[in-house]
Amino acid sequence: MSYQLIDSYGRTINNLRVSVTDQCNFRCIYCMPAEGMVFVPREEILTFEEITRLVHIASGLGISKIRLTGGEPTVRKDFPLLVRMLAGVPGIRDMAMTTNGFLLKKMARDLREAGLKRVNVSLDTLNPETFKQLTRRDYLSQVLEGLEEAEHYFRLPIKVNAVAIRGYTDDELLDFALLARTKPYQIRFIEYMPLDADHRWSRDQVLTGREIIERINAVWPLEPVRRNGSREPADLFRFVDGTGEIGLIASVSEPFCGSCNRIRLTADGKLRTCLFSLWETDLKTPMRMGVTDDDLAEMIISAVARKEPGHLINDPSFVQPERTMSAIGG
Ligand code: SAM
Ligand code: SF4
Repeated sequence: MSYQLIDSYGRTINNLRVSVTDQCNFRCIYCMPAEGMVFVPREEILTFEEITRLVHIASGLGISKIRLTGGEPTVRKDFPLLVRMLAGVPGIRDMAMTTNGFLLKKMARDLREAGLKRVNVSLDTLNPETFKQLTRRDYLSQVLEGLEEAEHYFRLPIKVNAVAIRGYTDDELLDFALLARTKPYQIRFIEYMPLDADHRWSRDQVLTGREIIERINAVWPLEPVRRNGSREPADLFRFVDGTGEIGLIASVSEPFCGSCNRIRLTADGKLRTCLFSLWETDLKTPMRMGVTDDDLAEMIISAVARKEPGHLINDPSFVQPERTMSAIGG
């Protein structure tokens, strides 16, 4: 029988998020600083061959799903080539990407041809001014065009990730609900988490999943979608009249750590067992020193054995990790 990673709390780990770069063409306020972000030097970033090797090893340990992320994955030079290499790794049944969408118009076809079938596009606001405030870039129209392009090439509905922040996007919940009702998009609201570079997160800015659903439900009634055996972080709701779906990723108010199936590989080759980990396992240095695949597999197994039971956002002892979301790979 083939190997399956299981952590010390009995959780099966089958999902690896691979950050392919810590660079980004946006500067979202909940993720990166406006200026002065210190990026990993180029030679410290995993090469395509190194990423592919690690995914291969992880697949031998039961990882069957990968998500390419960053920073912004599409800004990595020759990114479609990496997609092609990873699409050829045996055992990876599902490969997806999370993107800010800016380069999708240009790149969607190449990515599809390289073997990518699913994308999540991050879009927090439909208002150009709020978009400028949140991303510190004036690129809303390009993202909307990228999203439309994605409809032609990737599996529908396209998942649209919207970080909900009180004071910025609370007046747009119904606009997003309308988008879910009129376009082939599943809107997934994500609660704002303390992973911002500026350490400005505060609990009262978190628009909770419950509040979001209540406000949409009051206008367009929703019902929960039951998904047998699903370990997806999103709670799913559908409009009672059958027109579209809304997802909630309520990481702060209703943590789903008990069913977490993920680990993360940073662009500089560190394995992280939780978004909020305060430790990580360096795979790159030993790999570059010439260790075997079996040695690397052992390192992954020992890291998974230490996977945290859950995050401590709601505990007074919570410490924000040094890495920003962009440097972890969200
Ligand atoms: N650049 C790509 C993008 O924005 O989609 C991929 C990387 S980004 C770090 C991955 C996801 O994390 C995005 O959906 C983004 O909105 C989300 N994110 C970033 N910082 C966050 C925070 N502090 N709380 C909640 N979600 C966050
Ligand atoms: Fe870039 Fe994505 Fe972070 Fe925004 S959330 S700054 S697009 S990595």
